[in-house]
Amino acid sequence: MSIAKGKLLQMPNDTGSENTQLKDVQAKDAQPKDAQPKDAQAESAKRESRKQRPILLLGGTSEARRLAELLIREGYRVISSLAGVTSEPVLPKGEVRIGGFGGVDGMVEFIKAENVLAIADASHPFAAQITRNGFEAAKATELSYVRVERKPWKPLGNERWTRVADVEAAVRALSKNSRAFVAIGRKDLEKFAVRDDLSILARSIEEPEMELPENWKFIQGRPPFSYDDEYSLMAQAKVDTLVVKNSGGKAVSAKLQVARDRRMRVIMIERPELPDIRKVRKIEQVVQFLPRP
Ligand code: NAP
Repeated sequence: MSIAKGKLLQMPNDTGSENTQLKDVQAKDAQPKDAQPKDAQAESAKRESRKQRPILLLGGTSEARRLAELLIREGYRVISSLAGVTSEPVLPKGEVRIGGFGGVDGMVEFIKAENVLAIADASHPFAAQITRNGFEAAKATELSYVRVERKPWKPLGNERWTRVADVEAAVRALSKNSRAFVAIGRKDLEKFAVRDDLSILARSIEEPEMELPENWKFIQGRPPFSYDDEYSLMAQAKVDTLVVKNSGGKAVSAKLQVARDRRMRVIMIERPELPDIRKVRKIEQVVQFLPRP
């Protein structure tokens, strides 16, 4: 098996409940001949499956994990790719590689080395760069490319939304002295630091790399979050404005319901522009755009 230089390739077992790094897999491959026949059969089945051309699944979302499971059930070999930005990522079933490819060229190299069959993109709606790269790499290698993207949120009525194009615009849109709950991940948090009039409650899976200004509070958290927890968090911190990316999906929508019920202002950062790519809404629709396994 070939591995792109400097990359970690994990080989989960069949159940996906335990992940084994490449060196462990090699150690198992070298088991003595008197190993249990059942184990030997399982190992040989795994080796066989690795000869199959894989789907490169651009991941980092819960849909991507569900899609990996679905594709494996459909008989595909799947290599999920994660950016490596989360220190303890929830790993999908199937094989996993972690870390950037090194742009389009790096991805093309990986595709060729692994003899990839097609690309399925289930990365986050705001992960625009990896989507652009995946699309370009698919064009360069003449592979099928399909992206699954959840529906954006829409206001249901009574909401106080201000829609903005990007994080910079969200920073500008905040009213003077507002108490904002900024729930956009850690990547762009430091952009809010230019506003020293604001009181900010920030939340992300990983701690921010920046030093927190005095008027900021940070809490670490991984979705999903319940309505009750979101309500008490926002009530206790007396936030009046929610800043959020229009990610869509149920796992993070409780905070929007709370904002509506508390009559809070919402600064909604809309999704970045993407090239004209093939998009589906549901993971079940992906298979119809992939070559057969
Ligand atoms: P991004 O801006 O689109 O990508 C920046 C660079 O990170 C890419 O050029 C690529 O580096 C690397 N990268 C991103 N996703 C990758 C993946 N799945 N596999 C391998 N390399 C990847 O991405 P981002 O917004 O930083 O998001 C990073 C990851 O977190 C994505 O997998 C995304 O699905 C997930 N995520 C993002 C958000 C969000 O709000 N942005 C929210 C939840 C989850 P190279 O050019 O070196 O290949």
